[in-house]
Formats: sequence, C-alpha cells, structure tokens
Amino acid sequence: MRNASYRRSGRARRRTHFRLLVAAGGLVLAGLIIVLASWFAAQKEERDAQGQGLFITVDGAPDSALSLPPESTPSSGDSDDEAQSTGYTVGSAPETPAQLDDPLLVLVNSETPIPEDWEVTPRMVGEQVVDARMYDDYIAMHDAAGAEDIWIWIASGYRSVEDQERILEENIQQRMDEDGMTREEAEADALRTVNPPGYSEHHTGLAVDLNDVDDGFESTEAYAWLEEHAADYGFVQRYRSTKVAYTGIDNESWHYRYVGREHAQRMKALDMCLEEYVDYIRSGGT
Ligand SMILES: [Zn+2]
Repeated sequence: MRNASYRRSGRARRRTHFRLLVAAGGLVLAGLIIVLASWFAAQKEERDAQGQGLFITVDGAPDSALSLPPESTPSSGDSDDEAQSTGYTVGSAPETPAQLDDPLLVLVNSETPIPEDWEVTPRMVGEQVVDARMYDDYIAMHDAAGAEDIWIWIASGYRSVEDQERILEENIQQRMDEDGMTREEAEADALRTVNPPGYSEHHTGLAVDLNDVDDGFESTEAYAWLEEHAADYGFVQRYRSTKVAYTGIDNESWHYRYVGREHAQRMKALDMCLEEYVDYIRSGGT
C-alpha cells in the first residue's frame, strides 16, 4: 500500500516534471523567437535608414531626402517626408565614394561630405578667404576681366562648417518670416540652394560665389564674360539647370568651382559637371 501509493505519487511527480519541462522548453523557444525577430527588425530598420539617408533622386529633388541635424528637425508625423527623421553626422554618409588623388577634383555634394583631412591654406581676396591653390588663377581671371571693363568680385569664398550652419538657418528663418512657410517647407526650399553643413563645396576653399548671388547675375556682362573665359583660368560654373539630375542643386549662375585650367577646359569641352567628370576620370577617361 505504501509502495503502491509511493509509485503512484512518483509517477504523478514525474508527469508533473515532464509538463514543467515542456512548459519551460516552450518558454525558452518563445524567448528565442522574440529575440531573433527583434534582431531582424533592427537590421531591417538599419538598412532602411541607410537606404533613405543622404540620397539624391534622379529627378533632382534633393530636398526630399536631405536631413537636418536632429535639433532643428521639426516634429512632424508627415509620412511622405520620412527622410527628415534620419539625421546626419558629418563624415558618415553611407558609401562615401573615395576621392580621386587630385585634390583639385575633390568632390563635395549632398551625398559626399568634405574629407576629414581636408586642409585649406587661406589667402585673402578682399574680405573673403580662398584656398592658395586657386589664388593666382583667380587674380589672373579678375585682372583679365578688368582689362575689358568687366568687374568680378567674390561675394562668398571659404566657409567653415559653423558658417554653413548659420547660413542654412538664416535661409530657413527668412523663408518662414517673409514667405510664411512652415519650418518643414522652409528647410526643403532652403536645401535646394544651400547644402547642409559638412556638405558645402565652400568648405574646400575652391568654390566662390561671384558678384550678385542672384538669378539676375545670369543676364549680366560679367556672366557672359565668365561663360566664355572662366574655364581658361580653371573655373567652371558648378550648378547648371541642365545638370540638376547629377548635382541635386538648382541652377546657380554665381557659384564657380576651381578645378585647375586643364580640368576646366576638358569639362567644358565634354559638357560635364564635376560629378560626371569625376566618374569619367575614375573609369579611365582622359
Ligand atoms: Zn556658392
């Protein structure tokens, strides 16, 4: 009787143990599934974030994909403007293409930040700073134009990352105050002509805004003279209406980039913007 009862309760205990084991096993399995699922979700989120990072669409609408620093990003639930939440860090654009060896062809655009080791050797032109590499050719161009009674001057030369932050913010505020745009609209609109800090070509010291930073510049004699002669001094108009698909920036008749005389003349002959030309050189073009 004691034995039988012991055996029965022993069986019952073993059954209970077995049920407990099954339950514990189930819990462990469920836990594993949850951990794996959240890991996959995190990976996907990361891939999505990279995919929609600093990326320019081919129809030339960089504003929809550009991001501002988190502190200046409006809290908006707009689903068609998700990219605004991505944020950016200077120097961490995904898949930044390697720069060519020739520093005169350094590429800085909405996708490609200024290289971290980039150095500017400052030279003053009026109140503006330019890099020493362009100084002599700029002065030669200025003087050649002056000899024909055409006056060109630098409205804006080298800018630090902090300068660019201030300029972008001013542009945004101006659009909000004067045009009644929301912060989000103002940011998108400002980013059509102002690159985010770290992504402005002005950081190189090889870019200058000449004369009137205004669309009206295109109908001046100075612009006509530059169209004809700038390449002979190593300068190219950096952003043209025909190249928005490559540059992501609207036409800017006033923004010139120094690439050296040889490159400028070839770019002009090939009708290539810097993005195209860098690709061309990288793939063996001469
Ligand atoms: Zn400029």
